[in-house]
Amino acid sequence: MKFRNFKMVDYVVYGRGSFNQLDEILAPHRQDGKPMIFLVDHFFEGKPLAKRVPSKGNDKIVFADVTHEPKTTYVDKLAKQLKDEFGSISGIIGIGGGSTMDLGKAVSLMMNNTGSSADYQGWDLVKFPGVYKVGIPTLSGTGAEVSRTTVLTGPTKKLGMNSDFTPFDQIVLDPELAANVPVNQRFYTGMDCYIHCIESLQGTYLNEFSKSYGEKALDLCRKVFVEKNKWDSESDDQLMMASYAGGMSIAYSQVGVAHAVSYGLSYLLGTKHGVGNCIVMNHLEEYYPEGVKEFKHMVEKNKVEIPKGICKGLTDEQFDTMINVSLGMKPLWENALGKDWEKIITKEKLRGLYERL
Ligand code: NAD
Ligand code: ZN
Repeated sequence: MKFRNFKMVDYVVYGRGSFNQLDEILAPHRQDGKPMIFLVDHFFEGKPLAKRVPSKGNDKIVFADVTHEPKTTYVDKLAKQLKDEFGSISGIIGIGGGSTMDLGKAVSLMMNNTGSSADYQGWDLVKFPGVYKVGIPTLSGTGAEVSRTTVLTGPTKKLGMNSDFTPFDQIVLDPELAANVPVNQRFYTGMDCYIHCIESLQGTYLNEFSKSYGEKALDLCRKVFVEKNKWDSESDDQLMMASYAGGMSIAYSQVGVAHAVSYGLSYLLGTKHGVGNCIVMNHLEEYYPEGVKEFKHMVEKNKVEIPKGICKGLTDEQFDTMINVSLGMKPLWENALGKDWEKIITKEKLRGLYERL
């Protein structure tokens, strides 16, 4: 047995209004003549948050286009633009949901590594540390703020740059930034956390480390999506900590069936991570009976729409693509179903599941 020795985020600041400390936090990391780059989710263009960004001197605010989930081509383009314009930079601050945070991490790494980010999709392929990087979530649930990966769609695969250089140097958890997220989006991304917990807690890789964080995250998800009847600022506080704890739970275990199947959808159809997980979770009674029952209750209670019939009319070839992408996620299946997972989840069985989505 080889135990994972995982790299964590170096500094964490938490609290309502902690975003106001950003200028002070960045100060010691500013290098002469080299700018700080604020990569801000395009949702905030023209909004008050963009004006609160503490940019000065030759710093630059870049609005991240997250219409689609991050692609390696986009990461390469952003890194090239920054290299062409500035040579090198003091650091990069990703402010937004999981997509913007992942872009921030990936661009930081590509400032100091040659070639394309696609060359580093995998495990421990990144050669040099990136530039100083800060993650600031404005949407809670993915756990991207604490993870050692960045999920990227490349020319041949959807896979992260998993490495010890990937975690942020600093994160700023300010629940005020997540106020006013539209109900459906908040639910989809929040359910990413809920599903992480169910998959981790019911997985064969479970250990006390993961369990401690997973149970806490699950408890917080239940507080906001099951127990309360109205969303309030405390709910934003709770969901932001749920996301953090859910990410920590996964750090020492693995996700499971919902993620493995959802990856196939996102690869073929471009279905987004949060909603994709929800679409799949809706049909996983066989694997997570209690979790799915509670999930359906939360959908109803929070009056959220989960798309249906998204695989209607696909060709055999398209089904095969999704099945192959999904079965390629070996650790996820092994965590979910044990060492003999290949006997349990056959291609035919998976096809049946995709057809029901
Ligand atoms: P997202 O970042 O894709 O954003 C979804 C939408 O919400 C976008 O339109 C965005 O503009 C908007 N948005 C963001 N903040 C907002 C706010 N405060 N108010 C209103 N709108 C806001 O969504 P997500 O679910 O946070 O992230 C999904 C991405 O994260 C996927 O690309 C997925 O692959 C990745 N992910 C990464 C990890 C990891 O460990 N690195 C884990 C899970 C998911
Ligand atoms: Zn996820």
